[in-house]
Amino acid sequence: MFRRRPLRGGFRRAGMPEVPPMLRRAHQLMENGNYAEAQEAFEMLAKRAEDKFPERAPFLFLQAGQAAIFGGQTKKGIAHLRSGLTMLATQQRYHRLHILGQQAVDELIARGLTAEAAEISEVIKNNLPAEVVSALVEVEKKKPILPTHCPSCGAALKPTDVEWLDEVTAECEYCGSPVRGE
Ligand SMILES: [Zn+2]
Repeated sequence: MFRRRPLRGGFRRAGMPEVPPMLRRAHQLMENGNYAEAQEAFEMLAKRAEDKFPERAPFLFLQAGQAAIFGGQTKKGIAHLRSGLTMLATQQRYHRLHILGQQAVDELIARGLTAEAAEISEVIKNNLPAEVVSALVEVEKKKPILPTHCPSCGAALKPTDVEWLDEVTAECEYCGSPVRGE
């Protein structure tokens, strides 16, 4: 059902911000398909982040949501997706909301969860100012290739999934480490 990624060599860590071990573990659980445990870990991290690192919280909620949905806890998963997306809107991070929201919708459709996909589409639509949408499409053009995983926390990285600090440097949205494109 899900793709397994080959194991990679050890993670490099030099000059990176402090990464909670639980975050690395949560990503690992997710990649290994331990969705229930991954969900629990991401929920804990997300709740903790809400107070301490509000800028990380949305991504952790979205990840908790994905873990829940992959593990069959659809209702819980949708609630987490909703939390993550509305948080992004509150923080006015519309680009992230647009991209990650659409990814969630695509994933739900791929799993046959069409009612849930429609629900999330509605959340995106209600939280995304119309004038922002057209501007966003431009931003998504060519970006350099990133390493497949964050060297600090082990999150799987996709070029569309990260926040770009400049032309070649992206920020891992789970731990805040800078990641350079090639
Ligand atoms: Zn990271």
